[in-house]
Amino acid sequence: MKVQYGKEIEVRVETDVFVAGGGPAGAAAAIAAARTGRRVFLAEAAGAFGGAGTVGLVPVFQRIGDGVNELCAGIGKEIIDRAYEGGAKDHEYFAINKEALKRAYDGLISEAGVEFRFMTNLIDVAVKAGEVEYVVLSDKSGVYAVKAKVYIDCTGDGDLCAFAGAEFEKGDENGQIMPSTLCSYWADIDWDKFDMQYKHEQNIYVDDAYKKGILSVRDRHMPGITKVGATLGGGNLGHAYDVDASDSATVTRALLEQRRMLPEFENYFRTYWSGFEKARLISTAEFLGIRASRRITGEYILNIDDYMSRAVFDDEIGRYCYSVDIHPSKTDDESYQRFRNKFKGLWYKAGESYGIPYRILTPKGLKNVLTAGRCVSTDNAMQASIRVMPGCYITGQAAGTAAALCAEYDCSVQSLDIKKLQARLVKDGAYLPNFSE
Ligand SMILES: Cc1cc2nc3c(=O)[nH]c(=O)nc-3n(C[C@H](O)[C@H](O)[C@H](O)COP(=O)(O)OP(=O)(O)OC[C@H]3O[C@@H](n4cnc5c(N)ncnc54)[C@H](O)[C@@H]3O)c2cc1C
Repeated sequence: MKVQYGKEIEVRVETDVFVAGGGPAGAAAAIAAARTGRRVFLAEAAGAFGGAGTVGLVPVFQRIGDGVNELCAGIGKEIIDRAYEGGAKDHEYFAINKEALKRAYDGLISEAGVEFRFMTNLIDVAVKAGEVEYVVLSDKSGVYAVKAKVYIDCTGDGDLCAFAGAEFEKGDENGQIMPSTLCSYWADIDWDKFDMQYKHEQNIYVDDAYKKGILSVRDRHMPGITKVGATLGGGNLGHAYDVDASDSATVTRALLEQRRMLPEFENYFRTYWSGFEKARLISTAEFLGIRASRRITGEYILNIDDYMSRAVFDDEIGRYCYSVDIHPSKTDDESYQRFRNKFKGLWYKAGESYGIPYRILTPKGLKNVLTAGRCVSTDNAMQASIRVMPGCYITGQAAGTAAALCAEYDCSVQSLDIKKLQARLVKDGAYLPNFSE
């Protein structure tokens, strides 16, 4: 059965740049756009900025440099510098202090002059002749419209583009999407007793625990628990399979499943890991950690060949280096071995990186829309590299800057003068070693 639903709604905001989602990509995009002097409005569904890295309790930042060069320079580095006393340390992975990071986002986004609303969802998009006319937002007051010159989709799941009718892909060649994880916080860990060897030998323990019924799923790929405080740990444990972020029924099932399983991990750690004898699960994230969902098809699809060739592009907006980190989408031996053999061997050497072309931010068929973050135009393998937070900062800053320039020059995202964009990014601290005026 269907019903006809329609009503007149207020256009509450008219702005230059609208940003949907305030995760790493949306935050960087909004700051970059606002710093050019354009008016920016951002809608965030949660009660804080930072997306998976704050509300989602993801415990660590992946690498910001390639071992020689600082790739996530510019706004990404500034965000991390603001959150950490002593600043971001190049070439390191480091634990996230959620509250410091939330405050860093609050401060930098407010100081840039971005207008924003928390607890506000993008729920619809009106499109005419390839241009978004307005977006529809929903909050406790009801629904309203926001009109902008340029729109940036930083929802992670590509909601804005999908609602606007853009093409997208999901999963691998068999339609398998990377599994999700509900991240967690742990207390009463004796890190002095913790032996890394235990972590590396976790497969043996998973098998044993599965045989003894301590764990109900034989999931041998376990990123583990990272030290985030003197006795605190941030958990990236277990996987929920066959979850499609655009299908809330599967997300609901996964949340229940993951909350049920985490006490099993408590028992597992206490039994097998030294230093974890008294470890306690103290919190789970407010939303499910989605590693991959829609990849919005752009003018170019960044692909695994580009990764292998350390590609350089004329329209490069940055470079990145994190490996292809595809978590197995099933628990069987074949999937696990494929993950270990195929993807584990792809790590770059120090100083190596791949180019990120501007065209992966421009969705096909939409003249005034850009994407940034984990929903940019890539194949399945490349999404597994660029999806990590430093990668999202790089694409976020580029999309925000591009949107501001398009608003200023009144041009489509496809016809933007790429040299102007690159020059502005360099001026703002981004890493573009292949750019020359
Ligand atoms: C379990 C897990 C572990 C990870 N581990 C690491 C790691 O160790 N290191 C690392 O660097 N990265 C890691 N990542 C990857 C990284 O956290 C994400 O890929 C990254 O946060 C994506 O950034 P984003 O801005 O594209 O999207 P998100 O972080 O997902 O942010 C999107 C934001 O948009 C909001 N939003 C969504 N839809 C709407 C809507 N319709 N209307 C309004 N707002 C909306 C959301 O509330 C959210 O705040 C991990 C991810 C997961 C899931």
